[in-house]
Amino acid sequence: MPMPPLPVRFEGDPEPLRIDLHMHSTASDGALSPARAVALGASRGLTHMALTDHDTLDGVAEAASAARREGLVLMPGAELSTQWRGMGIHVVGLLPEGVRGELVEGLGALAVAREKRAATIASRMERVGLHDALARAREQAGSERPLGRPDFARALVAAGLVPDVATAFRKHLGAGKPGDVKALWPAMAEAVRWILAAGGVAVLAHPVRYSLTRRKRGLLLDDFAAAGGQAAELVSGFQNPDVTRDLSRQLQERGLYASLGSDFHFPGGHLAPGSMSPVPRTATPPVWTHPRLAPRLNAGA
Ligand code: AMP
Ligand code: MN
Ligand code: MN
Ligand code: MN
Repeated sequence: MPMPPLPVRFEGDPEPLRIDLHMHSTASDGALSPARAVALGASRGLTHMALTDHDTLDGVAEAASAARREGLVLMPGAELSTQWRGMGIHVVGLLPEGVRGELVEGLGALAVAREKRAATIASRMERVGLHDALARAREQAGSERPLGRPDFARALVAAGLVPDVATAFRKHLGAGKPGDVKALWPAMAEAVRWILAAGGVAVLAHPVRYSLTRRKRGLLLDDFAAAGGQAAELVSGFQNPDVTRDLSRQLQERGLYASLGSDFHFPGGHLAPGSMSPVPRTATPPVWTHPRLAPRLNAGA
């Protein structure tokens, strides 16, 4: 079946775009296997997607074969955990050439950091009453994949210490709380360097979700661009159109490309693959027109 090409500009078309460049699977904290996540995307009419699990490309091979079966284009990717000025910042690497060069060691370092961090989070959660925190988080993960804060959040809920995951983050795991352990993550600029060295495009993930003032978000974008980062997520899931317009100006001022994605984790919530707010008309170029991505994302399946 011929695939409609992706638009080369954002014209403010209210029709949803058939591309989603930020999604998770069971390779990190998503609920669906890579194959099922891809199949769901295809059933929702997506033609192009990136799998961007936290700090790993372990799901990409499975996603790629599912994409071949479903007839859609899959971009290999990962969402790297980094820090900038003491804050946890996520950088999506879109990696048409896969994992090469320094990124090999970088992902290794991230895996080690995530494992050590889980032990630190566990001891902090024990202080708030979660006994055997590491084992309980592992039980929630239900597999050997690297642990993340959502596993501790669900363990806190299962132990009856908080009513729901949102409260677990608000009280114990969210930004500035004891379970928010960032010290082991690489500097943002370093992660950007790994992505660039692998022939990829570094995308600042969900810049409007860090609770920054506009000015501080500008500084983050300045540093990200100065480090060689090429793009930022202009739209991440559902967001206010005024916020999107404001952010698009900040991207344009810095010559950054615009990416977009649902940040899908699990079905049944308000997000699915491809669900996100429409992109308003803007001069900021779509990230799929970047020379490193265009050959792969415009080529069709
Ligand atoms: P980690 O990768 O271990 O730092 O965990 C971060 C992940 O936790 C994010 O990617 C989200 O999937 C999830 N998360 C972060 N904040 C919240 C929240 N307030 N409620 C639910 N899940 C959250
Ligand atoms: Mn996540
Ligand atoms: Mn993120
Ligand atoms: Mn994500």
